[in-house]
Amino acid sequence: MSTSTSLLDQVVREIADEMAQRSDRGEVASYIPELARVDANSFGLVVVDADGHVAAAGDRETPFSIQSISKVFTLTLALGKVGDRLWSRVGREPSGSPFNSIVQLERERGIPRNPFINAGAIAVTDLILSGHQPREALGEILRFMRFLADDSSITIDEAVAASEQRTGFRNIALANYMKSFGVIENSVDFTLGVYFHHCAIAMSCRQLAMAGRYLAYAGRNPSTGLNVVQAERARRINAIMMTCGHYDGSGEFAYRVGLPGKSGVGGGILAIAPGKASIAVWSPGLDANGNSHLGRMALEALTRRLGWSIFGV
Ligand code: GLU
Repeated sequence: MSTSTSLLDQVVREIADEMAQRSDRGEVASYIPELARVDANSFGLVVVDADGHVAAAGDRETPFSIQSISKVFTLTLALGKVGDRLWSRVGREPSGSPFNSIVQLERERGIPRNPFINAGAIAVTDLILSGHQPREALGEILRFMRFLADDSSITIDEAVAASEQRTGFRNIALANYMKSFGVIENSVDFTLGVYFHHCAIAMSCRQLAMAGRYLAYAGRNPSTGLNVVQAERARRINAIMMTCGHYDGSGEFAYRVGLPGKSGVGGGILAIAPGKASIAVWSPGLDANGNSHLGRMALEALTRRLGWSIFGV
């Protein structure tokens, strides 16, 4: 049963009002110094349904650092480039470890558990980079984001990229470690340069929800009717978002929200209600696992009120 647009508008507004009143907002990420400058009181929520109706509340147009949410899109691009060969470089099991953990890599001979932990995303970035200059690879990623969101104004926040480049010691360690196993093909500096920059893409909730539509509608952009990926690929990316999209908080997210989702330490979450909607939420304060605290609460309220969890009402 489809959700009426007036109900959707009302639920989105109510949730934004409720979130605005909460004082438990989590902690803004500070390990990338530039991210710590963001206003902790920001909150945005945008839902785009199958007919293209946009229900929005709060800071819907404010660009924020999408960080790890970019990993959904780089995975899509890399699968388009190398297909299932990708899975010889990266696994697809939940890690149960923090996003920047290094211990599993040693036990598993340099093969990251999944494409959404940092090590896995760096390996995926390396696949996109192969055969190109870093500038070309980055251009390809940015063009893809603009195409998906149908918005040419999307850019990279260079200050965030530079900030992470200066302080990304763990990611540098992860990349070098994978290189020692032959999992990274290109120069570690080049691969990380592209990785830091795609994490620093800035998008608003509206742009992000628009960009996620192909995952909600079987690989198709419903407004143009164009296939971005095959339906099977969209389904599989959703499966990985469900099992691995929130690091060691993925089980909790599935339990509470019940949708495929991907979080970023900028406080954004992209969530997909298959066949129903693409959803973006942003609140910069994070929980202990590095996932947006109010973002998750807002999505939990949304799926409960609309009966959208993929596990039933
Ligand atoms: N660029 C961030 C990092 O590599 C992304 C982390 C995240 O959003 O979870 O640490």
